[in-house]
Amino acid sequence: MTDLDDLTFCGWDIAGASRARFESIRAVVHEHAAGSAFIETCQRLEVLHLGSCGCEAPVRVAGAAALLRLAELAAGLHSAVLGERQVFAQVRGALPVAAVPLRRLTAPAIGAARHLRREADLAADSGHLLDLALTAAGATPGGHILVVGTGSVARLVVSRGFALGFASATVAGRQRPDWLDSATCFVPLAELRSAAASAALVLCLSADAPDLAVHDFPRTDLLIDLGTPRRAAPGCTAAVSLAEIGHSVAADPEQSARRGQLRRRLAELLASRTGAAAAGVTPGVQRLREEIERVRAAEVERAVRLRPHLDRVSVEHLTRSLVNQLFHHPTQRLRTSGDPAFVARVTALFDADARHGQEARP
Ligand SMILES: [Zn+2]
Repeated sequence: MTDLDDLTFCGWDIAGASRARFESIRAVVHEHAAGSAFIETCQRLEVLHLGSCGCEAPVRVAGAAALLRLAELAAGLHSAVLGERQVFAQVRGALPVAAVPLRRLTAPAIGAARHLRREADLAADSGHLLDLALTAAGATPGGHILVVGTGSVARLVVSRGFALGFASATVAGRQRPDWLDSATCFVPLAELRSAAASAALVLCLSADAPDLAVHDFPRTDLLIDLGTPRRAAPGCTAAVSLAEIGHSVAADPEQSARRGQLRRRLAELLASRTGAAAAGVTPGVQRLREEIERVRAAEVERAVRLRPHLDRVSVEHLTRSLVNQLFHHPTQRLRTSGDPAFVARVTALFDADARHGQEARP
């Protein structure tokens, strides 16, 4: 069994990086050994691996601190949008292709992040980057919004734009996306320059999308670039990239306090899980018990709220007793079965994430 001390994290902040800087960091990341977990979001490039490292990463943590950092990343505590759902999916998605000892070692971090997300109700998505960009620019939503890109970030930004109060929207891309509704116009990328003037023009381009020159853009009051590498060159009326959004979030004392609080809670959750892992409790079984307890506690809250005459202490007692009667024996059997495939099949039936559908990745 690989020791936790071997776990190493190398990380780079790439929010709003130029293409040259982005490509050079990406090359260094992929020089790490095969079987490492490569985590790429629009704000960070990170590689989690076993053994020491001499690369030039500005962030390097090892051992238990590396495990905590993975949990923080997965919970979205390092994202501009606190708790961004798509980031959890991206971090989790990087692990199945990693080497088996790395996956086994990192399971408690993903479990702790999932627990925190549920407990603290962290449900914001990438569309909330639009809120942060407007705040960073000191702009108010309204008028027409033009979104360049057709991926999931573009879809979420259009939806968020309408929710915030933009009156109309146009999407520009190489091909008309399936998700476009009748309220949103479409313009082919080749005709971008002739699109209507906008109050905000939002670039939602993936790293591998072709670059655009500033003279390709129609007139806009505010240019927002949510991609990395950044395309929005200086010279526009006002330009906000992920770098400015990051600075604006970091300067907000309320955000810092909330993130600090969540980080401390996450460290507690992770410590209880690594303790449990050391004592031989299968993470899947633990998750199952947490899910059952979550459902029980939520039902108690609902019952007491709808029927205020009920005695909370009695309801707590009754429901705990019922849940224990039903699940004590089956969970004991799972813990002692010695058959991981059987445990995985049974616990998957209770996996809330699977029930509620997987989040799409940008
Ligand atoms: Zn490294």
